[in-house]
Amino acid sequence: MSVAHVLGFPRIGRKRELKFALESFWRGEIDEAELSVVGQTLRREAWGWQNHAGLDFVTVGDFAWYDHMLNASALLGCLPTRFVFDAQALSLKQYFELARGNAVQPAQEMTKWFDTNYHYLVPELSAETRFDGGVDWLFDEVADARGIGYRVKVALPGPLTFLWLSKSKNAGFDKLGLMARLLPAYGRILQKLADQGVEWIQLDEPILGLELPPQWLAAFAPVYRELAQSRPKILLATYFESVSDHAAMLRDLAVAGVHLDLTHASEQLAAFLPDWPQDKILSLGVVDGRNIWVADLEAQLSVLEKAHSVLGERLWIGSSCSLLHVPVDLAQEHELDIELQRWMAFSRQKLAEVGVLKRGLELGREAIGAALLASQRGVESRRNSSRIHNPAVALRLTTLRDGDAERDHDFPQRQAQQRARFQLPLLPTTTIGSFPQTQEIRAARAGFRRGTLDEAGYRVAMQAEIRLAVEKQEQLGLDVLVHGEAERNDMVEYFGEQLAGFAFTQYGWVQSYGSRCVKPPVLFGDVSRPQAMTVAWTRYAQSLTSKPMKGMLTGPVTILQWSFVRDDQPRALTCKQIALAIRDEVVDLEAAGIGIIQIDEPAFREGLPLKRRDWNKYLDWAVEAFKLSASGVRDETQIHTHMCYSEFNDILPQIAALDADVITIETSRSNMELLDGFGRFAYPNEIGPGVYDIHSPRVPSVAEMLRLITKAAEVIPVERLWINPDCGLKTRNWPETEATLSNMLVAAREARKTLGC
Ligand code: GLN
Ligand code: ZN
Repeated sequence: MSVAHVLGFPRIGRKRELKFALESFWRGEIDEAELSVVGQTLRREAWGWQNHAGLDFVTVGDFAWYDHMLNASALLGCLPTRFVFDAQALSLKQYFELARGNAVQPAQEMTKWFDTNYHYLVPELSAETRFDGGVDWLFDEVADARGIGYRVKVALPGPLTFLWLSKSKNAGFDKLGLMARLLPAYGRILQKLADQGVEWIQLDEPILGLELPPQWLAAFAPVYRELAQSRPKILLATYFESVSDHAAMLRDLAVAGVHLDLTHASEQLAAFLPDWPQDKILSLGVVDGRNIWVADLEAQLSVLEKAHSVLGERLWIGSSCSLLHVPVDLAQEHELDIELQRWMAFSRQKLAEVGVLKRGLELGREAIGAALLASQRGVESRRNSSRIHNPAVALRLTTLRDGDAERDHDFPQRQAQQRARFQLPLLPTTTIGSFPQTQEIRAARAGFRRGTLDEAGYRVAMQAEIRLAVEKQEQLGLDVLVHGEAERNDMVEYFGEQLAGFAFTQYGWVQSYGSRCVKPPVLFGDVSRPQAMTVAWTRYAQSLTSKPMKGMLTGPVTILQWSFVRDDQPRALTCKQIALAIRDEVVDLEAAGIGIIQIDEPAFREGLPLKRRDWNKYLDWAVEAFKLSASGVRDETQIHTHMCYSEFNDILPQIAALDADVITIETSRSNMELLDGFGRFAYPNEIGPGVYDIHSPRVPSVAEMLRLITKAAEVIPVERLWINPDCGLKTRNWPETEATLSNMLVAAREARKTLGC
């Protein structure tokens, strides 16, 4: 009998119950006991669903109050020493201080979990770090599940992945050197779980999908040989990428089984199947844990049958990775039309898919006839639907010409024309787009959505906001103005709602970090733009001022990156379709008299594949898509782009290749260090390094910003420098915003005097 399991389940709940409970706890409205009940209910619900779907195990260890890496730190007892907490007696309140900071200590750093949109808390380690054990939450959860009568598999980050993803403030610190201390800690945890009756432990080692340095790779064999001493059987889980480079190492590894992600790298199976050892199971992840499309059960069953003929009982069936990255339950999407629903599967539906595949393998196809039929209907209806294919989009793609992704002339010529046209001062000042999203703005948008505010009323309300933003900017004395984005709830959703090819869910939430969830649009079909999306608002804003009004768009790569994307054609092609739609908008803005247009690409770097050797392929099409969106305008029209919160230095040639006339980037938090790369690389176009961090309510002084501007001028020639905040201001309030921008403008005037030639 083959075993069926999933690598993990979302912890947020069908209606984001965890988010709301956490936030009430943080506001002091509920206590620890009440919060604990919510957590337990959510865990039991998830186990119940797994059990009901016919899985052989319920997975425990995937629940976390804030983040699973933070839970691992709390379990191991390795907390940052700057918080003087007793690891063994850590309270929930203290746990949240690690995640969110407290009056004296900033939070642990947060960063992206591989190439997903999930963020984990980076463990802070040093040569003194000890792993003497911490909270007992995991053991309590196991006891709870065992008490209900479930067979339990525990999932934890593997020791190598845990160390790799951690950081130390001492430069050159050898993280791997801590393994000697970490391993006994894992041994103790595994032993304790075995004592509780846990038979299998899933240790996640997704770092095997990266290109690891040799000493890290070499560490796998001895580390797992050591762990094999403890009683539970270890399933080493890999995901997100192919690990076929390591097939030989994994074959010999002292573990009881290995999990492979066949959704993202199906071809890797060939490297493992032929001579897989008799004493190891091979778990095949055939149900996609990162996208929302219904599984092609027929096709997956064929893959499994082939594997089964070699592996027999040693075959396990699973999700490709944890289901953390997809929403919880499609069954509550009552507003999604039936056809679209038939195409999709969320976490609960994916559990059923895994369960059905197991039954199909065991009992034959007839036994799962109904499920096979439904899957086939979903897959085929999606493939053949007239809603997916738009002949006009296909035709347009064939008419693209070579020069369409290039501006008419090189940057120096464009720069000369733009200078003559806009007559901006040295060190021009601008903002990144959004202004404070006040309660009134949200209320107006919500009213319009619900139908309590009619279109005319909504337009009046938004125009009033635009007028307010323009007046404030004029009073402040900014050089290039923005309309403030009051009409946008989200920079991707706003465009998705107006483009053909997108659908939206009501509860399709996915955890981004802690209590924060995002609801990515569903990009299901050919993308086109039925009509202009931003022109009316922008034109209105421009009518209020004689200063240049910057049009504001989200770029094709970011729209792609922050959506659930169709998987029936290459992402590159989908991105190109979005690029054409944005290009039309850019051209329409230009025709409406808008001379400066910003195309935001904050997610540009996020699309990079995990293996560096695959980077160029992505960068080629991503750069091309951006340029396609930006190149339909005349030389005298100035194209800006904006990127934030990422490391740019290793992709500078490609950022330069975007050939935006101006790029604004986040730099203030790194004290302008991020800018050094642009200087060394001799970035050729104009650049606006952010001079203040928009995430904090703090109002930085004139001197502070002046210092950053001066620092920037040391690396970038002053005639190519702009002055602006790090990112959009929608999370701030007006008093902070006005105070800070006012200081920024004083700093700009000072800088013009001191740096101007
Ligand atoms: N124009 C957007 C804004 O100002 C940019 C947001 C972002 O970079 N994430 O809100
Ligand atoms: Zn930004």
